[in-house]
Amino acid sequence: MSTPAITNRLAIARAAYDDVPLYDPKRTPVKLDLTDNTNLWGVPPNAERAIREFASATVTRYPTLYGTELKAALATHAGVTPDMIVTGCGSDDILDSAMRAFGNEGDLVAATDPTFAMVPIFAKMNVLRSTLVTELPDHDVDADALLATGAKLIYVCSPNNPTGALVARRTLEKLIEHAPGVLMIDEAYVEFAGVSNIDLLARSSRVLLIRTMSKAFGLAGLRIGYAIGHPSLVAEVEKSRGPYKVNALAEQVAVTALRQDVQWVEEHIRMAIEIRDRLTIELLKLDLDPIPSSANFVCVPVKHCVEVGMAMREQGVGVRPFPNLPRVGDALRISVGPWPMVEQCVKVLGAALTKKRKKS
Ligand SMILES: *Cc1c(COP(=O)(O)O)cnc(C)c1O
Repeated sequence: MSTPAITNRLAIARAAYDDVPLYDPKRTPVKLDLTDNTNLWGVPPNAERAIREFASATVTRYPTLYGTELKAALATHAGVTPDMIVTGCGSDDILDSAMRAFGNEGDLVAATDPTFAMVPIFAKMNVLRSTLVTELPDHDVDADALLATGAKLIYVCSPNNPTGALVARRTLEKLIEHAPGVLMIDEAYVEFAGVSNIDLLARSSRVLLIRTMSKAFGLAGLRIGYAIGHPSLVAEVEKSRGPYKVNALAEQVAVTALRQDVQWVEEHIRMAIEIRDRLTIELLKLDLDPIPSSANFVCVPVKHCVEVGMAMREQGVGVRPFPNLPRVGDALRISVGPWPMVEQCVKVLGAALTKKRKKS
């Protein structure tokens, strides 16, 4: 973590939080922001209408306790029963709640490396230990090494953030077969992968598939996440999550999107996939070697990524630099959006690289 150490902490503060940093992805405003993998085409049309038509008087009352209507809509969308769904204030909340639900103080959380940066932080917030296991050279998860940690909680992300790589089926099967505790599979980008692991739920009652409406569904600002799993597993996450976590507006808009905007969402997923593959080709043309992506972003190794990212920012294009990733090295992660945005990004990246190559 590059966040400076917090000095002069309150003596009454929780000791385990001594080195918990505030999340800081250095997200300063930029004209064209391709840093956070949200839906750059915008809000689905019926969801937008639901926001405009929301009866504001509703906010004087509490929302539903555990998001009954949203659960029902998500269950229909996913093809499962509502008792297999738990919702949360973003899938961040689901991850946090799941760790609290299953981890006793000091238990181990094992995650692949690189992956979603919040995992070790949520572990620490819940007074758990965490360990990171370097991915395999082909960017698949090292199942044997993850299992060898003996961790009670294992976290994998498929497609993985920030690489975009899919975890192989046989890798997940091995983890399911041998994991001693709970296996969390983060599917924040599953819609862009063309395959889902939902059928794996039939093989184990200790698998939690974690999903979100922040990415493909374009509702990041409303904070809707959910998990799918065996009813007994989901019930424990719901206990640790607590009541009223999804606000009334968010629930209503999300339900509308699930009932009326799926076709729009699917069309835009198809566009994102097409443009992702087009972006990959453009990066190859720049003599770069992008990692094949199954998500709505592309991770491309670029030396001196922070410097290159800064140069691109000066030209009005924001991408996310990841210095020194295990197995990858310095890399940029570029979100996919409408082609003119991506085209502009490629142009600015090309110029930044030319300048850099001339200098060195
Ligand atoms: C974006 C993202 C999330 C967070 O999603 P929210 O539902 O907005 O909290 C979770 N996991 C991964 C891997 C992500 O990239």
